[in-house]
Amino acid sequence: MINRDTGITSLPGIGEVRAAAFARLGIFTAGDLVRHYPRGYQRRGDIRAVRDAVPGEPCAFLLTVGTAPTVRTMPGRGRMTITKFSAYDESGKIEISYFNQPYRAKSFNLGDTFRFWGKIEIFSGRRQLANPISEPYTEGVPLPEFVPVYSLSEGLTQKLMASSVDGVLAAFARDPGYKDPVPPEIREKYDLCDRLTALRRIHFPGSYEDIESGRRTLVFDELLRFSLCISLSGKGSSVSPAAVMEDADELAGMFCMSLPFSPTGAQRRAIADIAKDMASGRRMDRLVCGDVGSGKTLCAEAAAFIAAKNGFQTAFLAPTEVLAAQHYRNLTKVFEPLGVRVGLLTGSTKAAERRKLLEELRSGEIDVLTGTHALLSEGVDFARLGLAVTDEQHRFGVRQRTMLSSGGDGLPPHILVMSATPIPRTLALMLYGDLKASMIDEMPPGRQKIDTYAVGSGYHERLIAFIRRLVGEGRQVYVICPAVGSLEKEIKDEERVTGQLLDLSDIGGDSGIKLKSAVEYRKQLKKELPELSVGILHGKMKPQEKDKVMRAFADGEISVLVSTTVIEVGVDVPNASLIIIENAERFGLSQLHQLRGRVGRGSAKSYCVLVSDAESEQAKKRLSIMKETNDGFKIAETDLQMRGPGEFFPAPDGSAMQHGALDLGLASLCDDTGLLEAASEAAKALLADDPRLEKPENAALAGSVSEALKGAYDALN
Ligand code: ADP
Ligand code: MG
Repeated sequence: MINRDTGITSLPGIGEVRAAAFARLGIFTAGDLVRHYPRGYQRRGDIRAVRDAVPGEPCAFLLTVGTAPTVRTMPGRGRMTITKFSAYDESGKIEISYFNQPYRAKSFNLGDTFRFWGKIEIFSGRRQLANPISEPYTEGVPLPEFVPVYSLSEGLTQKLMASSVDGVLAAFARDPGYKDPVPPEIREKYDLCDRLTALRRIHFPGSYEDIESGRRTLVFDELLRFSLCISLSGKGSSVSPAAVMEDADELAGMFCMSLPFSPTGAQRRAIADIAKDMASGRRMDRLVCGDVGSGKTLCAEAAAFIAAKNGFQTAFLAPTEVLAAQHYRNLTKVFEPLGVRVGLLTGSTKAAERRKLLEELRSGEIDVLTGTHALLSEGVDFARLGLAVTDEQHRFGVRQRTMLSSGGDGLPPHILVMSATPIPRTLALMLYGDLKASMIDEMPPGRQKIDTYAVGSGYHERLIAFIRRLVGEGRQVYVICPAVGSLEKEIKDEERVTGQLLDLSDIGGDSGIKLKSAVEYRKQLKKELPELSVGILHGKMKPQEKDKVMRAFADGEISVLVSTTVIEVGVDVPNASLIIIENAERFGLSQLHQLRGRVGRGSAKSYCVLVSDAESEQAKKRLSIMKETNDGFKIAETDLQMRGPGEFFPAPDGSAMQHGALDLGLASLCDDTGLLEAASEAAKALLADDPRLEKPENAALAGSVSEALKGAYDALN
């Protein structure tokens, strides 16, 4: 019997290797799998005539094989083979080719009909379809109208994902013990379908209406549990005791005075909120939310200062080694003159140094320990932990944060979370009250709009001249490439992984564009700009190497840094004033905004150049939004609208809402405000009737809520 908690290795066709690939997507159980919603759909039921197809746009064709496939080995190109044949519909003929798949020749027999999905390209006047997906077609036997497209990790295919989901849904349907957690009266009142139907519809819709109705039900379901969790936990968490930090206000004031600049009004308000929380004797559980570059770190530093001067230690978690090292440098600079001692612990800290650090941590010599999730590992014992800060917390899972749940004096530490995902203030207030979220809605002074341009790769020479000029003026430059290496295989891998992501109607026909590689690009730049020092940074480098490069860039020894997205979150080098993003079509809007936020952090006029040869309307629209606005909130909203369901949106209070049963997988707190209101109304009505969800008819719901609460709140309380 398969139920939600069945491990995915118990599903047919999934062994250790595939399980590891699923694990990379956060899928461990059958329940996780059905909550891995499609990123989009291919509407293969919408058959086009060959003659009407727009080149470059993926679509479906119904074609009959017109010539027997031939397999050719390309001369001088390794062992590359091309399998070729022609196929036709009533409107015309087309050439179909498959690269390096000679076995395909056997599948296409003369006269057989297939439904193909792919992009038509025109080569020397002839229509071609390269590497299309094919499904055998038999008259009178319908093929699915929509085919789901999932985010994948290496080692998985769309087919495997879809058939696994299908198998699990079928098993759920056979399970007599399966209970829909949403009571039937509520489903009826709000016009929802049952959960299994909703899951079927979202994964395997027959129509757009199916997608909408499935999504509506699942979103309501998520939001209902979300509302219940907030109501049920609100009582508990607000009274959770924590260390009282004395003189918090005065200390915060002292800290602000020690800075070389004066904090913005928004920063001051956030710091005042924090000081009040920390002095209250109740546990702080605060989210500091603000756009990139709004100066969130400062607020966390004020909190750490308050803790340190009260004799409590702070754990300062960063999502990457680069960021941890940067925090370490900043914290040291800010704190050293104030007598607050800072340490850095990451996965690459050497054993001897680590031993010394841990010793100093246990003895209380270190006040602030910054680092990656290495902070959460076995043997890291704080003498008196009083505060846990997480930066860009959505990269951390609940399970990891459980490790920080016990603090000094037998009390849990205060929690401060910084998030760069903008959330409308009213919405945050509605959900959390003004007690939990501080909005940094004001930029430090002197920030200018980052001028953003979208250009084709033909502009390369002009960009080189631009780099030369800016560096001549003493500035520094980032160049972002989507791929790391020049190795054919690596690019192919990358293309296979991301290529599938982009094999989507929402991104259109740009997946054939060659990816720029950071390694190659740097080589080229060294030739083009021999007088400049050009560095490189990517995820395959050792952490120490990465840190060394970042340090050299921060110190101005490197003028141009070619990098993959490892620099995406939070990296701060105020002297950098130009960022060039190659293959800009490959990145999501919010990611582009994050990347762009790497410049414009100092007083110099800053620029962002998005380089793309993408032709599709979607890609053009995305890039033009980047040109129009610097407002992170507006961009996040557009991103959600354009990329649709499945796009992740973290919980405003920073607690672990994104995991397990509380996963806001589909719901968007921006777009679904109507449903959110309905769900919180339903939650209120439910709780009015059954305050602790103890009635038998609410058992299924109570079960899934308490599981979510366990995950989300036990970790923090
Ligand atoms: P983010 O919110 O993206 O984490 P940071 O905390 O990294 O932003 O701050 C961005 C930059 O702005 C840093 O260089 C920081 O020193 C600087 N900064 C922060 N607050 C102010 C301020 N009030 N006045 C001037 N510069 C500031
Ligand atoms: Mg930051």
